Amino acid sequence: MTGSKHLINTSQDANAGSGIQVLVDCGLFQGQKQWREHNWQDLPIPARTIDAVILTHAHLDHSGWIPRLVKCGFRGPIYATGATIELCGILLPDSGHLQEEDAEFHNKKKTSKHTPALPLYTADEAQQCLQYFRPVEMGEVKQLSPELSFRFVRAGHILGSSMAEITLGTNGNTRRLLFTGDIGRVRDSGSTPGEVVSEGPQPGEIADMLVMESTYGNRRHPTDDPRPVLANLIRQTVQRGGSVVVPAFAVERTQKLLFMLKELMESGQIPRVPVHTDSPLAIGAVNIFLKHSEEFSDETKRLMAQYGSPLNWQGFFFDSTPEESKKINSSPYPAIIVSSSGMATGGRIQHHLIQRLPDPRNLVLFIGFQAPGTRGAQIKDGAKEVKIFGQIIPVRAQVAALEQFSDHADPPELLRWLHTFPKAPGITYLVHGDPDAASALRQIMSQSLGWQVEVAQWLEKVTVDNLRRSA
Ligand SMILES: [Zn+2]
Repeated sequence: MTGSKHLINTSQDANAGSGIQVLVDCGLFQGQKQWREHNWQDLPIPARTIDAVILTHAHLDHSGWIPRLVKCGFRGPIYATGATIELCGILLPDSGHLQEEDAEFHNKKKTSKHTPALPLYTADEAQQCLQYFRPVEMGEVKQLSPELSFRFVRAGHILGSSMAEITLGTNGNTRRLLFTGDIGRVRDSGSTPGEVVSEGPQPGEIADMLVMESTYGNRRHPTDDPRPVLANLIRQTVQRGGSVVVPAFAVERTQKLLFMLKELMESGQIPRVPVHTDSPLAIGAVNIFLKHSEEFSDETKRLMAQYGSPLNWQGFFFDSTPEESKKINSSPYPAIIVSSSGMATGGRIQHHLIQRLPDPRNLVLFIGFQAPGTRGAQIKDGAKEVKIFGQIIPVRAQVAALEQFSDHADPPELLRWLHTFPKAPGITYLVHGDPDAASALRQIMSQSLGWQVEVAQWLEKVTVDNLRRSA
């Protein structure tokens, strides 16, 4: 779960020193402590022996360990799409900043068994690692060694997101590996309004080995339109004089919600209350998003043509300084506050929760996945109180969750995409989901497609030549 890292080694003998070692994704483990502890473990091979990183997209569970990799001695190129690189330019330093805050907090409270508690990496170190990023166009073939080339194909998950299609050619034998990264929704209806990026995954893929995410392997997205429910929740909250607090990922999710709020307001379905985007990261993401109109969905194009840039909408405030952020707290009038982090584990949302959770007039609205063990999951699961900055905060506000906003395809959507493959992959490995999700998806795929599907094990090695497990 989370923390995606897949190593390809093209040497016949891993110890022979020939061939090339390429890491596909370099993610941070998030969520439960047992997983987060993996972030502190050394890699099974020295970081300096890795020749290159291929990064599918900017989410931290795919990119967030890159600064640590560089800190451990990696000095090779990191290949990603232009939009992914721009997003990493804001997400990685922010992640470093949160790591520093965490360490500082533990040092102050003496709650770490390590003294002093150190950050996994600092904002500065994250900034430094950006020099290794190299842009690769979607579809452009990049040869990394005589035997290994790759290209990015669209994943339709978030801005810049891609799958890595890797071609290995050894002894006249060509093998294609497809690493999906995260897979976007396969859209065919109004069930995913507000999508900001256009296409879902590219149809008609061919792979000898498919390495596929399984985050939503045991869940299904509701297919109804979330807008009527969203409008209702907001109207009721404003009527009772409360504010709406939305913990939201800064990238994609915040932009999607803003477009939806704008439309609901313009069509008179919700009152015109101030909307605060209180996240410097989300503002940075809006700016990057505006630069990449080539990825806009038709709906986004229409909304942009009708309403212009979100940065200029009346009544929508983008609060970048801490002073602006604090001012939101002092206003007694109803407002909608969108802030990150999306699972309420860090960032400015914590201050808004401290302020708004104890008042039953308010609404805390989740529009994203809450990983088990996170503060967001506790609140969503009905905790009566939560601990924030060491304070016990009672949860008296209304809590609601809308599941339609997901940027991950669910099993029916995945099957629709997999059915476009002209032939079955030699083997499929499921990764990046919790064990229940992965094994549920394995069963669904074996049954409906008849493919050979395995759940990848931690540190498992696979010989690609004949596509069999070697350990
Ligand atoms: Zn992702």
